[in-house]
Amino acid sequence: MTHPGQVLKREKLYAGKEMGQNFLSSPGTAEMIVERTGIDKEAIVLEIGPGLGALTIPLARRAGRVIAVEKDSRLIPLLEEELALEEISNVTVLNQDIMKTDFREIAGDEKLTIMGNLPYNISSQILFRLVKERAIIEKAFLMFQKELATRIIASPGGRDYSRLSAVVQYAAQVGFVADIKPTAFFPKPDVHSTVLRFDFLASADMSAPMEDLLFDVIKAAFSKRRKSLKNSMAGGELGLEKSVVIAALTHAAIVPERRAETLSIAEFKALAMAVWQIRQET
Ligand code: SAM
Repeated sequence: MTHPGQVLKREKLYAGKEMGQNFLSSPGTAEMIVERTGIDKEAIVLEIGPGLGALTIPLARRAGRVIAVEKDSRLIPLLEEELALEEISNVTVLNQDIMKTDFREIAGDEKLTIMGNLPYNISSQILFRLVKERAIIEKAFLMFQKELATRIIASPGGRDYSRLSAVVQYAAQVGFVADIKPTAFFPKPDVHSTVLRFDFLASADMSAPMEDLLFDVIKAAFSKRRKSLKNSMAGGELGLEKSVVIAALTHAAIVPERRAETLSIAEFKALAMAVWQIRQET
């Protein structure tokens, strides 16, 4: 793999902050990450933001097929050139915005494995999207800024536990893969990065509309995280009267004075079910 700094200089290109472009410049690190995923020839991998191919190359050597979705059209010919140099032929490069990509069309009848060193500015949105699409996703290996990874895996009760933690931990089993130092990238970011593994879970006990309500309840609960649940959840997008919020919390055996950051996933589910039931009755 050619060093990204060298490619960009040769092409008189800059790494764009607006697209979160910090390219992995250490082939050994890229190889280590891909090796830890255990991806094999059975896997159809959707890579988010392949950039100049640091992860794409080791991925393509292990996976059956790779579909690499890159938004920056300037990088497409450079990526294709790198793949040709490495004599790789099982990668399809798509010049698309991942937020608009049709995952179902790519998957066909198969399930996808997702991999990506994510653009930091839309990492959370991408993760929410994967949760929504998880019926066709087997697992995902994603690199985040370390601070965001810490929030994703945070347990209830601490200040890092957030809307993202609750939604993701409801939808997936999350595991640690690797910590990556800033020196492994070009340009060098100010922060450390972390790769996480997501094994998505089916929503066996919740219908799709109930799950949508659960996500709305989590969002409302964290909308004013300093406030007690009886206050944070009243009004707003859920459109619930305070008395209804208190009734739902009581029904779910949750003290109304508690705050969102103290609720377990099981308690959020019980709360969503209580709101659902109250809505059915009125
Ligand atoms: N995978 C490469 C690597 O590890 O060196 C690049 C990672 S870089 C952190 C993020 C990549 O995502 C960039 O190539 C960037 O152009 C691309 N990107 C940014 N926004 C995107 C979007 N909405 N859809 C697809 N790719 C995007």
